This record gives sequence, structure tokens and C-alpha cells, in this order.
Amino acid sequence: MPEEASRGKRRLLSLGAGAGLVAARTGLAGALLALDVPTARAASILAVRVWPARDYTRVTLELDEPLKSTQIQLSDPPRLVVDLEGLEIDLALRELVAKIRPEDPYILQVRVGQHRPKVARLVFDLKGEVAPQLFTLAPVGQYRHRLVLDLHPAVPVDPLKALVDDVRSRSVRPPSPPPEDPIAALVRDRLDAQERLAQPDETTMPEPPPAARGKRRPPGAIARMVTIAIDAGHGGEDPGAIGRRGTHEKDVVLRIAQLLRERVNAEPNMRAYMIRDGDFFVPLATRVAKARRVQADLFVSIHADAVVRAQASGASVYVLSERGASSSTARWLADRENASDRIGGVFLGSRNREVRRVLLDLSTTAQIQDSSRLGHFVLSELGGVGELHKPRIEQAGFAVLKAPDIPSILVETAFISNPREERRLADSRYQARIADAIFRGLRGYLLRHPPPPKARAT
Ligand SMILES: [Zn+2]
Repeated sequence: MPEEASRGKRRLLSLGAGAGLVAARTGLAGALLALDVPTARAASILAVRVWPARDYTRVTLELDEPLKSTQIQLSDPPRLVVDLEGLEIDLALRELVAKIRPEDPYILQVRVGQHRPKVARLVFDLKGEVAPQLFTLAPVGQYRHRLVLDLHPAVPVDPLKALVDDVRSRSVRPPSPPPEDPIAALVRDRLDAQERLAQPDETTMPEPPPAARGKRRPPGAIARMVTIAIDAGHGGEDPGAIGRRGTHEKDVVLRIAQLLRERVNAEPNMRAYMIRDGDFFVPLATRVAKARRVQADLFVSIHADAVVRAQASGASVYVLSERGASSSTARWLADRENASDRIGGVFLGSRNREVRRVLLDLSTTAQIQDSSRLGHFVLSELGGVGELHKPRIEQAGFAVLKAPDIPSILVETAFISNPREERRLADSRYQARIADAIFRGLRGYLLRHPPPPKARAT
């Protein structure tokens, strides 16, 4: 059958070339365009990926050729039918069935069948009403053609409600630590036991990092409840940078973000709001919009990018710039980060007015000033954990830092392209030390620069 498919494709290609010649001679450009419609081609599936999350579930089909698709939404029970033209069902497509997990918030199950010759049909049985978005993405980075189906809840998840629910659930029971690698847990317990023997008074969890030992936490309390938007970079289709040992930036930054959340939520008058708390992609403007929706007081984006120079090392802190980047590395990183939407995949039609306005909003000098102050506190704490890439704040046009009313910083915790730093980033103790340092920086800033009273309490 693959032979037949490729023969079919070859025949079509030769037909296309011949028609092109005719069209060129006779000037029939319209005929050429009609032949270019990808429906006649036989596409094959390179990969199937599913990203379930409370915000939305995404299904990605990666193909060697673009293909035409149509969707029909049915209710009672809610279903979504997607027809894929120019596709024979094969093993790769059948894999989709097994990739739907029982805990998927939106998909009950998927059925795959050959609707007509060269038209494959996917039937998604849904757990409720959804607002589907079906779109294609042109090849970019490591990806070929992608057909993306995003299943958003019919009533969008309100970030404010999510925050309130999160706080409420915390007041009922103490925050439970996320699941940990059993071997890492064993090693940690062993080390902790040794530590306790050496210092019988230290019983607090998590143990303070060596850099912080002896350094007493600054006294004082934060004046009012502040919300910290914690933004783990990348996610889902966008892995971020990938280290030589295969460590994905999106995974380590999520772990550090979760550790930072624990510290923030353990502090009186501080609460964390996670921009993403799972492995799914959030468009850059949506990150900003979510932080604004919950009226975040501070915004911290956590990254661990790669640069060409493998020796490059150390942490750095970035804020927005009004006039160009402060260094070529800063410019390069901002360009890379801003490309995240193309890799992660954004349905352009979904950009609502609020999100578009965020993108157009001009940054304010005051926001950059406050962000720089915040950045200094975090940078000096990071300097206590390890080396710094540069001893000063860097500036560039990062889209994710563009909330005009929220001091926003982007922390490059380490370079995943540096083999030594990649090893450290994967180490839970190092992740905890980074989270501690960022937390101390946030707290120090808030004590020194008390947040102004809020117009509206949440
Ligand atoms: Zn990044």
C-alpha cells in the first residue's frame, strides 16, 4: 500500500509539472492553483501528540504534506468529527486512540476510521461542550506540517476563578508536594538524615541552601496580600531549549516554578498564580493577559535557554527595553523567546481584543524601572547560589514582559547548552536552591517597595 501511495503521488507530481508547463505557455495560472490544492496528495503521519490540560486539550498530527481537514460538531452526546482528506489510516493514526488518557479533561475517547478512500475520519467523543479550533501550522524548527486541534472549554476557564479555587483548596489541606522520582527522594532523605545528625536543630523542610545558611531572612511582613504570577516558559509543543543529555527546558522550568509556588504560598500575604501548571503551551500574549486578569503584583518568567557557545554559564535576569537590547545575547534571547508562539502554535483567530491590546500596549518607563528594581533583588540572590552570567540586569524586547502595569522579569536560571549546567538543572536540590533564591529576591523587593493599595480586592 505504501508503494501504491507513493506511485500515486509521483503520478500527481508529474501531472502537476506537465500542467505547470501548459499553464506557463497559455498563462492559465488558475489551473495551476487548482492543482496545488493538497487534497489530491497522499500525506503520511509522522507523529501524533496529545497535550491534555485544564486550560485546553491539544491534539497535534505532524505530517509530511499539508492536508485539508473539515470539522463537524454534534451534540447529544457531544462529539466532534474531523475528516482528513488525502489520508489513509495507518498505525501512526491508530496510536491516537491509545494516547487519549482517562483523565483528559475534554476527550472521553477517539475513534479512527476510513470514511472514504483517502479520507480518514476521527470522531472525538467529548466529556462536555467544547469550543474547537482546527488549524494548520507551516513547518518551523524541528517540526514539519502540523494539523492542530485545540479543544477549549465552551465556557473559558477564568484565571481569577482558578486562583480563588487554588487558594480555597489550600486553606482546606496543606499543599502536598508533587510526585517525585523515588530514587531522588531516597537520596534526598539519606542526605537530609545526615544533615540532621550534623545539625540537630534543623528540622524545617525544605532545608535552606548552603548560600542562604547564616543569612537570616530579612525581618518584616508584607503589607497586603500580593499575587505573584509564576510563568514557566514554553510547554507542550514548545520544548524550549534541549540540552545534550536530552533535558527539556520546559520540564526543568516547570519544576522550578512549582518549587517557587510552594515557597510563595507558605509565606503570609503572598500567593502564587501559575501561568501554566502542566505540560501544555500558552501563547505569549495569553501569559500576559492571564497575569493581568488575576491582577498580579509581580510577574516572573522562568527559563533555562541554550546559546551557541557551550561554555556560556551562569544565571541572568532580563527586563523589558524601550530602546533596543542591552547586548547581542539579550537581543538573541529575546528573538528566540518571541519565536515561541510559532513553535508552540497559536490559532490567530483566537486572539481576542484584550490579548491583542496587550501586544500593542506600549511599555512604560515606570514599569521598566520597577522591573529593574525587582530584577536587582533577584539577581543578587541568584549570585549567592552560583555564578552570574553578567553582574547586571539585561534588557531586551521580550513579549512576555509587556504587561504595562506589572513589574515583570525573565530569569534565565542557567544555560542548558552548558553540559555542567544541564546536569545541575536536572538536580532537584539545585532546582530548590534556584527557587529559594528567586523567592528571597521577590520577598526582599516587596519588603523594600511595599505594593500600593489595590483598587479592588480579589
Ligand atoms: Zn526559554
